[in-house]
Amino acid sequence: MKIEIINVGTELLLGEIVNTNAVALQKMCKDLGFDVYHQSVVGDNCERLMECLQIAFQRGADCVITTGGLGPTNDDLTKELSAEYLNLKMVYWEDEAQKVEAKCRFVTGLDEIPMNNFKQAYFPEHCTILENEVGTANGCIMKNDHKMIINLPGPPKEMNYVVEHELIPYLKQFQKERLYTCDLITMGIGESTLAEKLKALIDAQQEVTIALYASEETVRIRLACKAKNQQMADEAMKPFKEKLMEMLKEYLILENNLTCALSKILPAYQLIYHSDFAFEPSFLLSSGSD
Ligand code: ATP
Ligand code: MG
Repeated sequence: MKIEIINVGTELLLGEIVNTNAVALQKMCKDLGFDVYHQSVVGDNCERLMECLQIAFQRGADCVITTGGLGPTNDDLTKELSAEYLNLKMVYWEDEAQKVEAKCRFVTGLDEIPMNNFKQAYFPEHCTILENEVGTANGCIMKNDHKMIINLPGPPKEMNYVVEHELIPYLKQFQKERLYTCDLITMGIGESTLAEKLKALIDAQQEVTIALYASEETVRIRLACKAKNQQMADEAMKPFKEKLMEMLKEYLILENNLTCALSKILPAYQLIYHSDFAFEPSFLLSSGSD
């Protein structure tokens, strides 16, 4: 399934807050094996949010996950616009109104709660409610015409709660294969030289992809493939790991073992791999699902 993420909030565009919701959702999608090709940020603006939804589905998303804009104020418009995009009527849900009232009473301690809170009791017809036990605005999942939009609350504590308790269990029904990765870390060779050295392997990549990520002192080589389980992923990546270890043995540094801890206290150059190093080559690999 192709998922696109849209984080709604003018404060994100003004650089006032860090978009931690995007990171959490990208990780969730990766862990569940869904493809995320695009993620965007848009302000609290009707036209521009509508445009984002249109673009997302036009470029092939099966599902758009939004965060933010579910609250009681006038600039909280995500749910209304999502419903409009999918041609769904907004309806007043009596049981949702009761939940909103109970939550607001609990939070404010007031008998009379501000009427604008009941905006949070309107949901698109036929949608699935995502219960938010740590805030007033519930999320929802709405569908029409083979398109799905999932609205999540903006506050990270609330979004994470809904993701963990409601969304992940729901999305598991669409899960097929997931992405497994394996990292090898090199030092003493630049990214471009490394890319040239690995050109043949990179050009021929198919199920197992090879990507380079340079940082100041190291270059990370990330092998990735989709598989049903870790064992099948390991089997698919094994020939590539072996080839890389053979080609780059003087540049690989140790990871995922004692030296990983040592690297925090010793200068990085002391960790350069030497072929006469006492560890087995398998220590060179940090393998896993993240
Ligand atoms: P509320 O009921 O609080 O209004 P909401 O669903 O309408 O919730 P927003 O109003 O968009 O959400 O955002 C509320 C707050 O949540 C923001 O002021 C910000 O602190 C935080 N927040 C929103 N979006 C993000 C994001 N993408 N990453 C991190 N924090 C966010
Ligand atoms: Mg809000």
